[in-house]
Amino acid sequence: MTVPTPPAGSEEPVAYDPTAVEAKWRARWAERGTNATDLHGARPYYQLMMFPYPSAEGLHIGNLYAFTGNDIHGRFQRMQGHTVLEPLGYDAFGIHSENFALKMGVHPTELIPRNVANFRRQLDRAGLMVDWRRQVDTTDPAYYKWTQWVFLKLYERGLAYKKQAAVNWCPSCKTVLANEQVINGACERCHTVVEQRALEQWFFRITAYAERLLKNLDWIDWSESTRTAQRNWLGRSEGAELRFRVLDPLTDAGSAGVMVSQEITSGSTVIPVFTTRPDTIFGATYLVLAPEHPAVERITTAEQRADIEAYRERARRQDLVSRQVNKEKTGVFTGAYAVNPANGDMIPVWTADYVLMGYGTGAIMAVPGHDERDFEFATAFNLPIVRVVAAPDDDAHTPLTAAYTDDADGRLVNSDQFNGLPVADAKRQVTDWLTQRGTAKAVTTYRLRDWCVSRQRYWGPPIPIIYCDACGTVPVPEQDLPVVLPNVPDYKPDDSGVGPLARHAAFHDAPCPKCGKPARRETDVSDTFLDSAWYFLRYPSVPRDDVPFDPALTKTWLPVAAYIGGNEHAVLHLLYARFINMVMFDAGLVPTEEPFKRFRAHGMIIRDGAKMSKSRGNVVNPDAYMDQWGADTVRTYLMFIGPFEEGGDFRDQSISGVRRFLDRLWASARDARTDGEPDAEVMRKLHQTIKKVGDDVPALSYNTAIAAMMEYMNVLRRGERVPHRAEVEPLVQLAAPFAPHITEELWELFGRSGSVFDAGWPAYSEALAQDDAFDLVVQVNGKTRGKVSVPRDVTQEAALAAAQADAGLAKFITGAPKKVVYVKGRLLSVVV
Ligand SMILES: [Zn+2]
Ligand SMILES: [Zn+2]
Repeated sequence: MTVPTPPAGSEEPVAYDPTAVEAKWRARWAERGTNATDLHGARPYYQLMMFPYPSAEGLHIGNLYAFTGNDIHGRFQRMQGHTVLEPLGYDAFGIHSENFALKMGVHPTELIPRNVANFRRQLDRAGLMVDWRRQVDTTDPAYYKWTQWVFLKLYERGLAYKKQAAVNWCPSCKTVLANEQVINGACERCHTVVEQRALEQWFFRITAYAERLLKNLDWIDWSESTRTAQRNWLGRSEGAELRFRVLDPLTDAGSAGVMVSQEITSGSTVIPVFTTRPDTIFGATYLVLAPEHPAVERITTAEQRADIEAYRERARRQDLVSRQVNKEKTGVFTGAYAVNPANGDMIPVWTADYVLMGYGTGAIMAVPGHDERDFEFATAFNLPIVRVVAAPDDDAHTPLTAAYTDDADGRLVNSDQFNGLPVADAKRQVTDWLTQRGTAKAVTTYRLRDWCVSRQRYWGPPIPIIYCDACGTVPVPEQDLPVVLPNVPDYKPDDSGVGPLARHAAFHDAPCPKCGKPARRETDVSDTFLDSAWYFLRYPSVPRDDVPFDPALTKTWLPVAAYIGGNEHAVLHLLYARFINMVMFDAGLVPTEEPFKRFRAHGMIIRDGAKMSKSRGNVVNPDAYMDQWGADTVRTYLMFIGPFEEGGDFRDQSISGVRRFLDRLWASARDARTDGEPDAEVMRKLHQTIKKVGDDVPALSYNTAIAAMMEYMNVLRRGERVPHRAEVEPLVQLAAPFAPHITEELWELFGRSGSVFDAGWPAYSEALAQDDAFDLVVQVNGKTRGKVSVPRDVTQEAALAAAQADAGLAKFITGAPKKVVYVKGRLLSVVV
């Protein structure tokens, strides 16, 4: 397709036809390799966007919003003289694709390539500066070979381990769910009530990195909201681990008070608990163990055994999340007593489902006076409630009607030698005292749990492990990677708790890599979040297939200069990526501990004031809008509807304003004269606009940059004036990151060879940008009396004349001035 040029001498204006212009430049870019990045080019700049999951519905307008915002930043950096790498790929493994394939009755190996082809068509249309030679697809064996390699690297370093764990199980999706995938006790995908199961799972020891992950948040240049979300997720707390010895009913009868000062004797059961409030130890009136706690079995007395067993069975059927939010407190007394290490009191040991095995030590010391859940529980079961912290207006005897949880203003009461101490001091002193007595140690804990990476599903990279009767757990040797996911027709998950690959002997029967005897492969696949935890390390090294990342290229391109994505990935993806990068850094494989120098979260777009959703039927189909308006208009409009980091409201009726701007740009370039001089007033506005757009784009303030260009357009065409080319050409450059196709066309029209993106950024002149007039401050007899607008090059005489001519000032300047001082550009001082 070509753009018709008017025959010589024709007066007929050529209208802007985005369809033709955009098709022409798509072809031209491909032919010239305009978007192909020279990986050895000067000033490398890695511009990264979150790669999409290629759904069957095609590109979502939200994807397009994010990618366009990213693309504008990348194109701008290129015009600033950087060699920009802006890659893209597909995050195509995972349960979403698999569930959709099952629903449609199409195998994922057929479905995904189809979706990817459709995405590629749409992405090409959007005019992104993507170097497709570096594309990754997580389902390609050439990619997941290295995902498996990453798994093995973690295994080698002792960071991947397998353990039996209580997990949330969705009986409908037939898979394990993470805690954050359980909403009110139901599966977030299918709303089926979730059960609890004990399964053998692979975990990554991300908790070993908790401290480093937290510390670096202080300095990485990331959106504040994202850093806050990560801080909360990591959940660091300082406290103490206290040890409670369970009384042996035979030897300890009636002697609790004597035992407390002695060493804990070996052989007796000791329950460690973690608390952030060691200062409240004197108020610990009972212990609660999670129903799964191994000590429950050991300490339960014969009389209580039947009740305990029934209760444990009941808890087993509940999911982990609803156990924590259950309003009604339930629990059973084990019949056993433990010793409070501070005051030697015998306190009963209970089990209750509000305590979870996976958190802390699986046991708590209950301080009903100062913890809300403990207060409710103690009230329900008639357990003693003791005040050990008093509010400023209370004393040791003020009864508690609710838990008093404030730890800022309280001071200790009913706590022997610690009475009167403020809570903060008491935390430390109580811990020290108990530590000396051998019943405590100071510890720091994190809310973060280890990352469960096993999935009992089909559509993911097989975990590269082999189990041998003689050799145990054997990692697949690197030269045997990838462990290819077999193309099997029967890939439905079932209720057995093991993945579908366990039904395929041809897959799981394999010789042991160590001894050669028959052995069995791991049949779980890894979590999709592992695929995306390292993809940014891969792009520069595609297509090398002998290493995951080329050392020299990795050193050149990493860390990522700018990463843009949704804040819904604040904790999972963005935390996992930081973790994997840190592990690779420790292995000497990447140059920095942090993978993303700068991260900015973009906002969300809504439509006509409401959230877009399929059920509301208000989802914007990017294809339809690009057909009607052209990609350049859609791109610019998306960036115009609000601050990029906050999002905006998509309204059909306001697109035309943006289209009109591009129409006027088109007409201005075609109408531009080359004879005579540009207008000084217009040039001043132009330089102000160059400054504004150049400041706004790197700050992602795209909407204000566009508004500034529109404002300039109004000055440029005021009174239907014919612009000078020198007034238009720089505007074409400023608009280029937003509307790449039309600006390339106009750049060519101006007789420029090569891409506008290699033409640099228009030069900005501060002198030219300065307004001619300015407000001069006028003082009379040392007092500021007002301001007067004067030309920048005003003389002292002219400034005085202007002040005398101003009605507001004239009443102060009476008679002939005795003295006049003019401070150039700043102040006129008159003495009368
Ligand atoms: Zn489900
Ligand atoms: Zn073996």
